[in-house]
Amino acid sequence: MAFNASVFLQENEESNSQRMEKKQLQNNLVASEDPLQNLCLASQEVLQKAQQSGRSRCLKCGGSRMFYCYTCYVPIENVPVEQIPLVKLPLKIDIIKHPNETDGKSTAVHAKLLAPEFVNIYTYPCIPEYEEKDHEVALIFPGPQSVSIKEISFHLQKRMKSKDRGPKDDPDIPSLKRKKTEEQEGCDLNESKCIGTTLKKIIFIDSTWNQTNKISTDERLQGLLQVELKTRKTCFWRHQKGKPDTFLSTIEAIYYFLVDYHTNILKEKYIGQYDNLLFFYSFMYRMIKNAKCSAVKKGKLSDKVK
Ligand SMILES: [Zn+2]
Repeated sequence: MAFNASVFLQENEESNSQRMEKKQLQNNLVASEDPLQNLCLASQEVLQKAQQSGRSRCLKCGGSRMFYCYTCYVPIENVPVEQIPLVKLPLKIDIIKHPNETDGKSTAVHAKLLAPEFVNIYTYPCIPEYEEKDHEVALIFPGPQSVSIKEISFHLQKRMKSKDRGPKDDPDIPSLKRKKTEEQEGCDLNESKCIGTTLKKIIFIDSTWNQTNKISTDERLQGLLQVELKTRKTCFWRHQKGKPDTFLSTIEAIYYFLVDYHTNILKEKYIGQYDNLLFFYSFMYRMIKNAKCSAVKKGKLSDKVK
């Protein structure tokens, strides 16, 4: 009896795990269909042509590249700059790059190419000083202290107040205002709109997830408000093995942050204003997916021939 029960349990467990596996497979299939197909994008004809003609020269450094130069942050000879969309952002972005990160693999360059006026890329350990600006800057990075996008206004406002009061006052003494805000779970539209504008710059770390710790624990970034994006799933083709699929590539993280910021903080309707940030990303994603598909098809064909 005991034996039978354990067999039954085992079998039950097996079918459960099979079911889980099946579900995971279905999820993967849905995700792999094309999560980027409904974007509002400029014509990618220029990229199609460049893809057909192959690598070309960077007009600045002369290097042979595809689409853009990842060291000079400019499109290459066969991709005329006037055919690349320009995206206007609601705030400035600093990207801190790990020196060991392979430049050609980074998607941070996409942001610099598509919103050059708003984006700066720094190579660690050469990074700007943020200490004086910590009431208007946020580091987009997951961690035990990180808050959600919706909570940014509240936390920056708290910092601003403690700055106004000066160092003698204890910023952690809960004021009436803070209690009110906490109870209301955010503030009324006008107030939050005005507070929302205090965020002027967001910082992203561009590196493989294993290398980011060194940068994120740098004391120059330690005091900053940390914000975490939790709910988005990556479709990055270089997705790092063993990491959850909510670990985004840099350009995905920037894009999803801005979309959420637009609706939750600016309280404006999102109608694709930042979609062109994925101009290169979506094209390269599709290019790689097609290459994989045709490799699989070829594999099957050669199996049949055998
Ligand atoms: Zn170059």
